[in-house]
Amino acid sequence: MVREDNFRIDRETMFMQITEVVAKRSTCLRARVGATIIRDNRVVSIGYAGAPSRLKHCTENGCKIEDGHCVRTVHAEANAIAFAAKAGIPTDGAEMYITHSPCKNCAKLIINSGIRRVTYREYRGDGIELLDYAGVEVIHFDRDSRLPSQQKRDSQQGIHLY
Ligand SMILES: [Zn+2]
Ligand SMILES: [Zn+2]
Repeated sequence: MVREDNFRIDRETMFMQITEVVAKRSTCLRARVGATIIRDNRVVSIGYAGAPSRLKHCTENGCKIEDGHCVRTVHAEANAIAFAAKAGIPTDGAEMYITHSPCKNCAKLIINSGIRRVTYREYRGDGIELLDYAGVEVIHFDRDSRLPSQQKRDSQQGIHLY
């Protein structure tokens, strides 16, 4: 039976939607950011912007601003990588989805954790250039234009979609 084209979402959309849900757990008043780590097409770690475990969140004590940034929180990307380290989940060769492009510090963590590909939705942090320099593949997830270009690329590669 032939299904409608929109019967099944593609993996990239699924991972970005999961990441957007994770972002809703953020406690920083300045940014609601989510990150997921993907291995073998499975989400193996999540992170959102929040205070370190057992410390007060921005939602309780307000943001702590230094040099224009809130320093109370651990960033979503760092939290996702820290959980993987704590749980013994390898990040080498993994992918990361982030609701926003990473800051420079998170980009450095991403590079050294061996993550090979980063997909983000909104441009915010300025760490993309670092990822580029380090050879990490960076993909801008654009919900409106991505599907047609994906289909175009598939047809150029001669891949048949069933
Ligand atoms: Zn904050
Ligand atoms: Zn960051």
